[in-house]
Amino acid sequence: MANTIQAIRGMKDILPGESSSWQYLEDTLRGVVHAYGYREIRLPLLEKTELFRRSIGEVTDIVEKEMYTFDDRNGDSLTLRPEGTASCVRACMEHGLLHNQVQRLWYMGPMFRHERPQKGRYRQFHQIGVEAFGLEGPDIDAEMLMMTARMWKQLGISDVVLQINSLGTPRSRASYRAALVDYLAGEKSSLDEDSLRRLESNPLRILDSKNPDMRQLIEAAPSLPDYLDDDSRAHFEALCLLLDAANIGYEVNPRLVRGLDYYTRTVFEWVTDSLGAQGTICAGGRYDGLVEYLGGKPAPAFGFALGLERLLALLATGGATLPDNAPHIYLVLNGDKAVHRGLVFADELRDVIPGLRLLANCGNGSFKSQFKRADKSGAQYALVIGDDEAEQGNVVLKPLRSESGQKVYTQEETAKRLLDLLELERTA
Ligand code: ATP
Ligand code: MG
Repeated sequence: MANTIQAIRGMKDILPGESSSWQYLEDTLRGVVHAYGYREIRLPLLEKTELFRRSIGEVTDIVEKEMYTFDDRNGDSLTLRPEGTASCVRACMEHGLLHNQVQRLWYMGPMFRHERPQKGRYRQFHQIGVEAFGLEGPDIDAEMLMMTARMWKQLGISDVVLQINSLGTPRSRASYRAALVDYLAGEKSSLDEDSLRRLESNPLRILDSKNPDMRQLIEAAPSLPDYLDDDSRAHFEALCLLLDAANIGYEVNPRLVRGLDYYTRTVFEWVTDSLGAQGTICAGGRYDGLVEYLGGKPAPAFGFALGLERLLALLATGGATLPDNAPHIYLVLNGDKAVHRGLVFADELRDVIPGLRLLANCGNGSFKSQFKRADKSGAQYALVIGDDEAEQGNVVLKPLRSESGQKVYTQEETAKRLLDLLELERTA
C-alpha cells in the first residue's frame, strides 16, 4: 500500500454514504432560487488568471496566496476559479447579457483555494452563488436576504445570525479610509504583520483580521457608518425597513467589510457560533463598480456566495436526519429462470411506480448471502423470486426492517401493493 496515490490535501471525495445529503442540500437550494425566478448559468472551472487578478484584486488573500495558477501548454496563465462572481460577470459581458437588461442568475459548483485545510476550510469546496445585475435599489438587496433566510427555513436551520453594514460609495469610503489609516498609523506597534502590510495597500481589510490580538484595536477604530454619504445612508435605512417588514432579524456590524474598491453600500454575512472558527456560511453584498471595472458599461450588481460544506456541517450539528437514497426494494433472484424473469419484472415495476428505487441482485448467490446484501443496501423490503415463483408468476414480499411476515403476491398484485406501501412511507 506504500505507494498508492491519495487525493490532494484539502480536496475531499464525497462518498456514496454522503452524496444523498449533498443532493438533498443542492435540491433544496435550487428549489429556493427557482422560487424567486433566478436562472442557472454554468461557467467554466478555468479562466484566464488576469480575470481574477483584476476582479478580485491584487491585494487580497485570494490573489496574493490562494489561487491555483499554472501555465497551460500554450504558455497562457490559467487559474482554477476561486469564486464565481468574476466568471459570471465575464460571461454576461461576453454574451451581451448586461446591456439595458436585468439578469438574476445563480450557479453552483466547486471552487479552489490553496488555503490551510482545517474543519470548514478546504482547497476544493463548493458554493452556490446568486447574482443580480441591473438593479440599484434596496429592494433587490432585501429580496436576496429574504432568499437566504428562506434557505435556512427550508433546511430547518435556526442558529444563524445576519450581520449587515454599508460601505457607502467609493468616495465616502475614501474619507473613511483616510481616518482609519490615521488611527492605525498611530497604533503601528500593535499591528500584526498582515495588518502592517495592508495599512498601505488595503487598510479596510484590517477590520476583517482573524487575529484575536487585533480585536481590541479594531473595536476602537473609527466607525464606517459615521462616514456614509446621504444616498448610501438612505439606501441602508430603506433596506432595514424592508427587512423589518419581512420579519428578518439582523445586527448592524459597523466593522463588516469587503476589502475591494468596487464594493458599494450593502455588505452582509450570515454567521453561526456552532462551527467554531469557520463561522461564516454565506457572504455577499453590492458591487456596483465591478462591471465597469472589468471594461463593461456600468451596471449595478448584488450577489452572494454560500459555502455548502459549512452548511452541511451546520445541518449535522443540528442533528437533522437527512434523507438518504437507499433503495426501497432489494430484489432477490435465485436461479436462472428467476434472473430471466426478475430483471424484466423489475423494469416493469420501474415503469409503473414513479420514483421507485429498486436494486436487483446481480451475480447470483445463495438466499442467505443475497439477504445479507439486501440488509446492507438499506432497503425496507425484499422482493424474492426463486425458480418456482418465476414459473408461477409469483413474488414474495418480505419486510426487512420489521417482524411482520412475508406474503406471496402475483406479479400484477405486487405493483399495487408496493404503491400502497411506498405511499405510506411518503406520508409517514
Ligand atoms: P473566510 O473569511 O472564511 O475565509 P471568505 O471571505 O474567504 O471566507 P467568500 O469568498 O466570501 O469567503 O466565500 C463565501 C463562502 O464560501 C464563505 O462564507 C464560506 O462559507 C465558503 N468558503 C470560503 N472559503 C472556503 C474554503 N476554503 N472552504 C470551505 N468553504 C469556504
Ligand atoms: Mg478566505
